[in-house]
Order: sequence, then C-alpha cells, then structure tokens
Amino acid sequence: MVNHVCSAVFCTLVAVVVAVACPQVTVAEEPIRALIVTGGCCHDYPFQTKAMVEAAASRGVAIEWKVVHEGGNGTKAQIKLYDDPDWAQGYDVVIHNECFANTTSEEYIRRITSAHKGGANAVVIHCAMHTYRAAKIDDWREFLGVTSRRHEHQSQYPVKVVATDHPVMKGFPSDYKTPKDELYVIEHVWPETTVLATSTSEKDQRVHPVFWTNRYGKARVFGTTYGHSNATFSDPVFLNTLVRGIQWSAGKLAP
Ligand SMILES: [Zn+2]
Repeated sequence: MVNHVCSAVFCTLVAVVVAVACPQVTVAEEPIRALIVTGGCCHDYPFQTKAMVEAAASRGVAIEWKVVHEGGNGTKAQIKLYDDPDWAQGYDVVIHNECFANTTSEEYIRRITSAHKGGANAVVIHCAMHTYRAAKIDDWREFLGVTSRRHEHQSQYPVKVVATDHPVMKGFPSDYKTPKDELYVIEHVWPETTVLATSTSEKDQRVHPVFWTNRYGKARVFGTTYGHSNATFSDPVFLNTLVRGIQWSAGKLAP
C-alpha cells in the first residue's frame, strides 16, 4: 500500500516536472461534438452513419457523436428532435443526412433553419438538398447554399476542384471519379456560397457544384450532393473530404 502511494506521488511529480520542463506539451484538443440527423427515403442510413463514424476515427479525428435516426423511410415526416427550439445547442456541428422531400410545414422548417442562422454549424449531404423540396419557402435552400430539385442518372462522375487552396480540398486528387452516384442539378447558387468542386452533366454538359461551403447567418455550412450509395460511403476520397468538411464546419480545421 505504501509503495502504491509513493508510486502515485512519484508519478504526479514526474508529470509536474515534465509539464514545467516542456511547456510546449499541450493537452489533447477537445473532441468535436457532432449531431447526425438522418432518416427518410431512399438510402442506407445506418451504413452511411457507421461509415462516417469509422472514417473520422481511422483518421484520428476525435468526434463525440449523437445520432438521431427518425422519421421512417418515406418522404414526409416531422421528427420530434425539432420540437425543442434549442435542439442544436451543445453541438459544434449538425450533420444533415436526411431525405424528406414532401415535408412542407413552414413553421417546422423555420425551427430548423433559425437554429442554424443563430450559429449552429452544419454539414449537408446528398438528399438533404432535396429535403423540404415541396415547401414554398426558400429558407432551407438558402441555408444549404444551393437550390436543387432533381438529379440526373447514376454514373462515375469526374470531380474538378475549383477552390484548390481551400483547406477542405487539401490532398484531393486531380483525377478523381466518384463511385456510381447521382449528379444533382443545381439550379441556383446562393450569394454566400463558395463552390469548391464541380462535375459536368453527361446529358447537357452543364457544370454543377458538388462540394461547396456556405455562410448562413452565423453558421458555417459545408455541403456535398454526392453520397447516394454505399459505394460512395466506402470511398476513401469521399470520406476524407467529408471528415475534413465536418472539421471545417466545426471551426477545427487549420487553414
Ligand atoms: Zn440518392
């Protein structure tokens, strides 16, 4: 017992000496607190969530996750999470990976967007861009940074980086093609949006943003229209960009 006490005192002393002798030694950074909101139509959300969580861990990015998977697998739902006006409090970033195109309640949508306008950072993935598509108000689309109402066929789309100096795109290959995924047709880019990368339609050669950032009120938003299939959520380049986007939105990616 005496030895244990002595040993504990010795270790404490060593720790103090090291801290004094090596002031550059810093305490590990706090993990990012992330909320994933997922569910709805057309995609394998349990697989995608697991892929995101594992991608961050394998890259040494510390994230404390809270997953809210609600609303079934249809195109219309109002989930309980948003009953609380402070639903986004306590998180560094909210990841929207849901798909509810036919939910139209303006009061409901504005409970979501007002939290973001007030400073809840966000990452928006794939079908989030078609969520609330049937709503008449533009609040959600302004929050996203792009307006899209349809997509083109699945293909392996080349991705061209147009913001090569942006920290999210660091290390992105110049010859990257997606796994089979859908090209979302972007009909409007909102004024605070910075396009990071584009892909070109195989049908009409129109160029569409596929990775971007947006500023919505006080929030930083990172978005991608890719993310349809499990193949995309198994692709290291896509996952790497997504993890960097989460870090950037949370304000924890060095420039
Ligand atoms: Zn899809």
